[in-house]
Amino acid sequence: MNLRTHNAFGLSAQAATLVRVDSDAAVRRVIDHAELGRAPKLVLGGGSNIVFTRDPQSVVLKVEVMGRRLVEERADAWIVEAGAGENWHDVVAWTLQQGWPGLENLALIPGTVGAAPVQNIGAYGVELQDRFESLDLVDMVTGRSVTLDIDACHFGYRDSVFKQSLAGKSVITRVRFRLPRPWQPVLGYLELTRRVHETGIDAPDASTIFDWVCAIRRAKLPDPAVIGNVGSFFKNPVVTTEQCRDIIGRDPEVVHYPLPDGSIKLAAGWLIDACGWKGKSIGRAGVYEKQALVLVNRGGASGAEVVTLARAIQESVYGRFGIRLEPEPVIV
Ligand SMILES: Cc1cc2nc3c(=O)[nH]c(=O)nc-3n(C[C@H](O)[C@H](O)[C@H](O)COP(=O)(O)OP(=O)(O)OC[C@H]3O[C@@H](n4cnc5c(N)ncnc54)[C@H](O)[C@@H]3O)c2cc1C
Repeated sequence: MNLRTHNAFGLSAQAATLVRVDSDAAVRRVIDHAELGRAPKLVLGGGSNIVFTRDPQSVVLKVEVMGRRLVEERADAWIVEAGAGENWHDVVAWTLQQGWPGLENLALIPGTVGAAPVQNIGAYGVELQDRFESLDLVDMVTGRSVTLDIDACHFGYRDSVFKQSLAGKSVITRVRFRLPRPWQPVLGYLELTRRVHETGIDAPDASTIFDWVCAIRRAKLPDPAVIGNVGSFFKNPVVTTEQCRDIIGRDPEVVHYPLPDGSIKLAAGWLIDACGWKGKSIGRAGVYEKQALVLVNRGGASGAEVVTLARAIQESVYGRFGIRLEPEPVIV
């Protein structure tokens, strides 16, 4: 089966075997299968954070566990559960319709619920870990169903245990969210603060923030259904104050954000733009005209072209700033 329609970059890759799994038991059937059980596995959600550079040699497990429910209504939070195969944005919209706000800043992030903990998705001042209660997974070695709480997930900036020691070893089947009560808006992000000033709405409700986030994202990010892409291609690098001071000395305009631990996060998009990459292409892979952090498929690009472009960008940023950019998506 060709995975072109199963990844947001629209890259062609041939999977010898793709199995759709809709429950813990379905995952176990694959693990216990005489042939499939022995083969390496690649877990696939919506393909919004994967770059295929070759045909995967693994059995592709397409996660399609569905279901949404309110688990518990506590005085301090709503606990809501969704199946890993549910569309992330649809679940965000549904929680708001039900009157359980808290996920609105994470609206319109493509992909599935099950992938959200993998890179601790984040946007507009909120990360998954801020709204996380626990998750269920099936251990691909033992076939056992296990529940992990927040400490066991080791969430970090676009990182978790699922990108580290548990990479490729488990299938997340359900995620539970803790949506705090009373609800507090998160408006610290520059573009949201600007909306508050522009509209004069200084106490927006969660639905208004949801609409603002959707509008901001639609204006600046390409829709993968139209232009293949995986969103931000690189993580924003974190540097020491000394490194930052050194860069500011040479490039006073550098966009940077101080972090609570004293380190400084630099805007990777600014670094790439400063190296002159915005709008440029290598082969059929290009740098999006409106946002240098986003690499795009200009039509029929191969994964190899995307990776060649990414490496060329990494080299120029290293050459000019001495900073190594780390890719955000999973490269297969
Ligand atoms: C236009 C655009 C904008 C984006 N904006 C953002 C953003 O603002 N913030 C952000 O954080 N991300 C963003 N992303 C990245 C992407 O949307 C997220 O990483 C999303 O969570 C990926 O979901 P997916 O189901 O498509 O995962 P996939 O791409 O299918 O998989 C990603 C990784 O997770 C693993 N995985 C997937 N499902 C499971 C599962 N059930 N169990 C175990 N492992 C699993 C896969 O093996 C792979 O390693 C954006 C992407 C695009 C295309």
